[in-house]
Amino acid sequence: MCRGATVETTTPGPARAADAAERETKTAKAKGLIPLTSMLQNLMKNNTTCRGAREGASGAIDLDPWRAYNFSSARRSEGRGGVSMVRSKVFVGCRLYSGFMPRVVHEAFVVFDGKVVFCGSREEALSVGSHLRADVVDLDGLTVMPKFVDAHAHLGELALKEGMVDLEGSRSLDELLGRLRSFAEAKPHLPVVFGYTFDHEEMRERRLPSASDLDRAVPDRPAIALRKCLHVGTINSAAMRLFDPAIFKPPFAELDEEGRPTGVVKEDLIWEVREKLSSLLSREDHLELMEEGLRRVSLKGVGAVGYVSCRREFLNVLLELEARGRLPMLVSCYMPPEELFDLHEALSLRGGLRAGNVWITGIKMFADGSLGARTAWLGEPYSDAPEGRGLKLSETSYLLEMASRAEAMGLQVAIHGIGDAAIDQILEVYGKLSRVRELRHRIEHASVLRGDQLERVADLGVALSVQPRFILGDWWVAQRVGLNRLRDVYRLKSPLRRGVLVGFGTDCPVERIDPWETVYAAVARGDRECLDLARHTPEERLTLEEALFCYTDGSSRIIRADGVVGGMGVGFRASFCAYEKDPFELDPSELKDLQPAISSDKLLEG
Ligand SMILES: [Zn+2]
Ligand SMILES: [Zn+2]
Repeated sequence: MCRGATVETTTPGPARAADAAERETKTAKAKGLIPLTSMLQNLMKNNTTCRGAREGASGAIDLDPWRAYNFSSARRSEGRGGVSMVRSKVFVGCRLYSGFMPRVVHEAFVVFDGKVVFCGSREEALSVGSHLRADVVDLDGLTVMPKFVDAHAHLGELALKEGMVDLEGSRSLDELLGRLRSFAEAKPHLPVVFGYTFDHEEMRERRLPSASDLDRAVPDRPAIALRKCLHVGTINSAAMRLFDPAIFKPPFAELDEEGRPTGVVKEDLIWEVREKLSSLLSREDHLELMEEGLRRVSLKGVGAVGYVSCRREFLNVLLELEARGRLPMLVSCYMPPEELFDLHEALSLRGGLRAGNVWITGIKMFADGSLGARTAWLGEPYSDAPEGRGLKLSETSYLLEMASRAEAMGLQVAIHGIGDAAIDQILEVYGKLSRVRELRHRIEHASVLRGDQLERVADLGVALSVQPRFILGDWWVAQRVGLNRLRDVYRLKSPLRRGVLVGFGTDCPVERIDPWETVYAAVARGDRECLDLARHTPEERLTLEEALFCYTDGSSRIIRADGVVGGMGVGFRASFCAYEKDPFELDPSELKDLQPAISSDKLLEG
């Protein structure tokens, strides 16, 4: 989660990365598993001997884990998620939007071996299909669109949020507890229960739950319910028993009148608690949650993700899932620099690495914190706290050194920059590199971007990875930066006009992955919510075409998977959703609630 300053600062030093690698090897060996480095080495060896590692245009090596053997305990016979894929299908009777700028419409398409091989008229599609002996599916007037590409999400936490209990929108304590209880009852084998992001301001009781509340829902094992900001939450009694009672002290823990901890924990302590609770999960649990989480996201209409701040242990989880044929989408990973450099050295790589659906694409670093916590680094003081300009989180020399090393290895660089001072720093770094446009180095968020910076971004060829859903989530932003700076906040249209590569993400779990909420936010810009931002910057609203273009084509370029996902033209993966209503015929307010009627996950099953 990118907007909480507490996590943002966890850039590990080289020593810590080496420690982590060693720890990983030890735990992996203890559990009888093969550590990541040897897993990838085996993959490469087997691919080289089986069919030769193919070097893609981007310099990344493509590996096919299906050709690899003996690199995990998985049985390859499990097949793709236990589902047999039919090789070919013809889809007719639909309105297919294969791309958005310009809008391209077809009435039929043909899928062969998971890819689109034809788009066009019904007659031609049927003729192509008959050569392939394809089944014919009449979509009966549905509107078909490529799945979205989320360029910025945190999958470790997404897995916990989507794979466990979603508490968003709970209107009362009973509702919140009910959701926790039914999940706990359905999954008795999980050693811990995580509930993600309630907002007590939206609950009837308007108070945080207590440990004894949570005990009523989950009495038998540790449980935690996290507030929207992720900086505060409540744990139950079983979770509290895992710790020395002495740590439950203000300011990081709340006490009742008699001085006993209530179960409410904050800031530093909540990170410690979360880490401990997460460590209770076995590798199998992590695999199950990641699979379940991504499957849900896939059904909502997301076909690929940029996984930022991906740690080695989660890369391991993804590779294991992929090897078992259970990873439902393409994941492009951005790792902390030291961790990735170690791996790179161990594998003697040039460029990225593509192992089936798991791509290792680049590094992720931080220049500042968040506007919510007033830790985003601004050029001028905060309007609602004039004593501060936020936090600088990394030295320029450090960012430059890491970015230069990455670039020399052909890796992409992504740097979190929310405030304009942080963006100045990132642009200074990118200004000294030589392959910015080619490798599509990214600025994450770019929330407060001055006009002169936009020019520089365009000239250097920097890509902007933005989160339109923040427009609605950060409804208070006008107070933070003042009306004068609003024109620089959450720019969408001006970068597009200037020819900048713009892609969308959600920063899940900060905002939930509900792709049509993101589209709605980009198009309506908080107009119906009466936000100052909408009133003062109507010129930054996108058309529906532009929003869909950014969230498909734009994001796919940002995660360096263009031509593979983010479109439904010939050659793309057949990763699509079908809708009852055509979004182009809807009022913008209706976009928010759009849900796919069915997706390629179901339609391409055997
Ligand atoms: Zn983030
Ligand atoms: Zn971030």
